[in-house]
Amino acid sequence: MKVKLLKFTQEPEKICAMAARLCYSNAGIDKIVEEFTTRKIKKLLAKVISSGHHSVLEHVSFTFGIEGVSRALLTQLTRHRIASFSVQSQRYVKFKNGIDFVVPQTINKNVNLLKKYNNFLKNSEKLYKEFLDFGISAEDARYVLPNACVTKIVITMNARELRHFFSLRSCNRSQWEIRDMTCRMLKIVKKKAPLLFSDAGPSCTRKACHETFPCAKPWKKNSVE
Ligand SMILES: Cc1cc2nc3c(=O)[nH]c(=O)nc-3n(C[C@H](O)[C@H](O)[C@H](O)COP(=O)(O)OP(=O)(O)OC[C@H]3O[C@@H](n4cnc5c(N)ncnc54)[C@H](O)[C@@H]3O)c2cc1C
Repeated sequence: MKVKLLKFTQEPEKICAMAARLCYSNAGIDKIVEEFTTRKIKKLLAKVISSGHHSVLEHVSFTFGIEGVSRALLTQLTRHRIASFSVQSQRYVKFKNGIDFVVPQTINKNVNLLKKYNNFLKNSEKLYKEFLDFGISAEDARYVLPNACVTKIVITMNARELRHFFSLRSCNRSQWEIRDMTCRMLKIVKKKAPLLFSDAGPSCTRKACHETFPCAKPWKKNSVE
């Protein structure tokens, strides 16, 4: 899996803090921009984040390029409606030179099951190619491809949506592949905008766990630091 930050709003912390300042100030825009110090940014952001005034976090966005993740991950990811997505098309792209698949650890460590898994993938790929060679369109031939197929995604989220996404998908109870991707994204944005994301992560790191069936173990924080 590859997770790369492609672009993000410059000075994201300052933009969000200025938006917050504007809400509570009589001063004009120029004065607000002028009088900003790092200390003020820190104080304001801590205040808006703890008070729940999260709309100011919508002024900055982060765009990631993701590669080598499964279509199974994609179905979970695209449930997040506030994000913007561009996904490699299985209608327009013909995978004639081989298809890559994700192999879950649980299957990978069992020799017998792995053999069956690989056989199944090989057969579906073979049938897919046979359909293409017969003249079946890629959009129809893809029906024989499994969830394990890898895909490429460009995704953009604003900081508010990212924090929400991190809360749900970096959780120990989240499915392992989307959790892995989410933790990599969190690690990257924490470095770029620590004041926006230092407390981001599953709900148990801030308050009570939101899960119906809590994992009852500490969050593996190391994966994002
Ligand atoms: C551990 C886990 C297990 C899951 N299991 C299942 C499952 O078994 N079956 C299943 O179908 N899904 C499942 N989901 C997906 C889940 O139900 C959500 O669809 C997904 O997490 C997106 O969350 P969201 O709607 O909060 O996010 P977003 O779509 O990104 O929305 C962000 C926030 O915006 C607001 N919002 C967005 N759209 C609307 C709207 N139309 N109306 C009002 N408010 C809105 C809400 O406050 C929402 O929380 C699972 C998710 C997780 C994390």
